[in-house]
Amino acid sequence: MSQLETDYLIVGAGAVGLAFADTLIDEDPDCHITFVDKHAKPGGHWNDAYGFVSLHQPSATYGVNSMAFPSEHIDTHGPNKGLHALASGTEVLAYFEKVMNMKLLPSGRVAYYPLSEFTGRDEAGFAHFKSILSGTETAIKVRRKLVDATFYQTSVPSTHKRPFAEIGDVRVAPPGDLPQLWKSPNDLPEHYAILGAGKTAMDTAVWLIRAGVDPDHISWVRPRESWLWNRDYVQPGEDFIEDAMELQVAIMEQASEAQDGADLMRRLAAKGYYLRIDEDVEPEMFHFAIISRGEIEILRKIKNVIRAGHVLSVEPGKMVLEQKQVDLPQNTLFVDCTASAVPFEARGKKAPVFDGDTITLQPLLVPLVVYSAAVAAWLEAHYDDDDKRNAMAAPGPLTDTPATFPYAQFITMMNRGAWSQDKELSAWMQSSRLDLVGPTLKKMAAEGNPKLAKFADSRQIMMDNMPHLIKLGVAAKAIHENT
Ligand SMILES: Cc1cc2nc3c(=O)[nH]c(=O)nc-3n(C[C@H](O)[C@H](O)[C@H](O)COP(=O)(O)OP(=O)(O)OC[C@H]3O[C@@H](n4cnc5c(N)ncnc54)[C@H](O)[C@@H]3O)c2cc1C
Repeated sequence: MSQLETDYLIVGAGAVGLAFADTLIDEDPDCHITFVDKHAKPGGHWNDAYGFVSLHQPSATYGVNSMAFPSEHIDTHGPNKGLHALASGTEVLAYFEKVMNMKLLPSGRVAYYPLSEFTGRDEAGFAHFKSILSGTETAIKVRRKLVDATFYQTSVPSTHKRPFAEIGDVRVAPPGDLPQLWKSPNDLPEHYAILGAGKTAMDTAVWLIRAGVDPDHISWVRPRESWLWNRDYVQPGEDFIEDAMELQVAIMEQASEAQDGADLMRRLAAKGYYLRIDEDVEPEMFHFAIISRGEIEILRKIKNVIRAGHVLSVEPGKMVLEQKQVDLPQNTLFVDCTASAVPFEARGKKAPVFDGDTITLQPLLVPLVVYSAAVAAWLEAHYDDDDKRNAMAAPGPLTDTPATFPYAQFITMMNRGAWSQDKELSAWMQSSRLDLVGPTLKKMAAEGNPKLAKFADSRQIMMDNMPHLIKLGVAAKAIHENT
């Protein structure tokens, strides 16, 4: 068995592990990092994504701190017109490959073992991994810490186990197969049934309609409706700064009036900050998905919406749901969009982010997973004990419903508040491309922009309303942990 040494062993070279490593090697000039990952290339689940996937947030604030995306322009066409571009899955993969091959590996302080599975640590303090193709085992002495960058357990349609039965000669496909349909012009489906109500299902519906499928030839199983973040309010840069600040203030102001999370979301939606596909149905889900008004318009064209619980089985011409059976055209293609993306339920096994010789990367600003990882790296490099680090890094929950959302918002605001007390960290955040407003506010301050006076009032409103958000957040935490 070969033996290696490193300071930090990062398990997972997805977006989160890469964002952590990128900041750590910049902030700690002495450390050595080793990555182990089962995938053949950096980028984690983006390697398995459907062909028409894209980010749902602007590329301009995604990825690692030190490297911009090539696609940081304003879109001039399509449903995202007028807003910052969303990198496609292919662009995201190319970007992470560049991060690894042009930034991390050339530093001479990073080693990368793809197609390798981390198998655990032994009592002597060695970590072990195994080459997936050759079976060769390697022991690695971790001088400082093991970094678990697998917390999010991302699940996508092409790799997950389908939660429904397939009976007979039924046609079922992941969304990734749809762009291949052109190869079978004589065997096209007569009808499409989209299974699932999350962002993947929404992407699939938009793709089918934009590809020319008649919306009446689509049925859509939506067990729960979702609130969606209006993309207008998550745009970086000076042209959008007032909208971005307005949303933050609105959340805090409405928290002072709202009875609970569902009420908070309804109030914010009434002002246009959150959207839903069907205005007549109260959403029971909130997974932080971001959408444009243009996409909502397209999605509303689908009228065959089936709300009867989850799908139990599909067969030619029929599907059985929890609450009823639905007949469909014989040659229906069922498109499986039921993968969970990330588990939104409360986790039984909780760990602090910094725990002795282990770092577990978790959301600090919900749902900004890459920014959270970059800040965790900053704290690792600049603070010298775990108590101080953890005081700045309360792990946030990935909540599932409007009722539990205030818990996520409350942890996010608490962490942000703590960070604002550290001048060095605040300065770093103001220069970070991952921060939605920091670099713009810094530029405006340098230019003496008069709009800044208005934002000083915003800060005061947010501080004044914090006790209300805490109250809602504590109640929402109890719901999150008991459901
Ligand atoms: C379709 C889609 C779109 C999304 N869009 C956005 C967006 O716009 N903005 C946003 O912030 N988030 C988005 N997300 C959330 C997304 O999950 C995160 O952005 C991010 O990519 C998660 O990265 P990760 O590194 O945590 O996970 P992963 O990408 O899953 O990476 C984890 C890695 O760990 C490896 N691994 C696991 N166990 C082991 C082991 N034992 N040994 C070795 N390796 C192991 C896996 O092989 C994998 O490569 C999206 C998610 C999906 C599914």
